[in-house]
Parts: sequence; structure tokens; C-alpha cells
Amino acid sequence: MTDCLFCKIVAGDIPADIVYRDDIMTVFRDINPRARVHLLAIPNHHVESLDELTAEDASWVGHITRMLPIVARESGLTQGFRTVVNTGVGGGQEVYHLHYHILGDVRDADWRGF
Ligand code: IMP
Repeated sequence: MTDCLFCKIVAGDIPADIVYRDDIMTVFRDINPRARVHLLAIPNHHVESLDELTAEDASWVGHITRMLPIVARESGLTQGFRTVVNTGVGGGQEVYHLHYHILGDVRDADWRGF
């Protein structure tokens, strides 16, 4: 999608601190980190939110889910991490390209009441 911020990051049109990338997904550092490590994992193709998913998406969703702990570990989060997915207005979603927040060392972080 041409006017989507995260599609532009995938395309390389907007710079990002990318920590992992494959054919299905890209992971980059959040520009406004809420924890010592704050990454965003996104599908390379445009999907607005979890609300859009159908059974046909199971394969790439499974791939991203499986890769989250691997990328987190490779980013130094050896003691675990928090995953947050904001969906729609009620979920406080600001960027409408599905993204999984990966937050590490969150004990003292203020993340929307968690
Ligand atoms: P949401 O509220 O779950 O939609 O989160 C959107 C996230 O995207 C926020 O944590 C923002 O800080 C982050 N963000 C917005 N623009 C950029 C960018 O250009 N690069 C990296 N992260 C961004």
C-alpha cells in the first residue's frame, strides 16, 4: 500500500533500524521505545490488523509467531520479553499495518497500563 508507513519501511523508502528480515517478515526498532529493547515485527505484505486475518493467513502468521522468540533472543532478550498487538481504535492502534511489539526489560516500563 503506497501510503502505509510500514510498507515504506519494508520497501526501503523510509529508513529503519532493521534487526531481522526474511521473505515473510521484517523486524525493526521502534522509533519511540517504551522499554530498553522495543522491536516491531511486521509482515512484509500489507495487512491492516489482526481483524483482517482469515484461515488462509495461518502459515505466515505461524512463521512470524515462531520467529518472535528467536529474534528477541538474538537481540539480547535472554530472560524473556513481552508481546503486544494493538488492534483497532479500541486497542489504541496508531499504525494500520499489523505489527507485533516485542518489549524487553519491561519491569519498570510504563506501557499503556500493563
Ligand atoms: P501502535 O500504537 O501499536 O500502532 O504502535 C505503532 C508504533 O509504531 C509506535 O510504538 C511508534 O513509536 C512506532 N513507529 C511509528 N513510526 C515509526 C517509524 O518510522 N519507525 C519505527 N517505529 C515507528
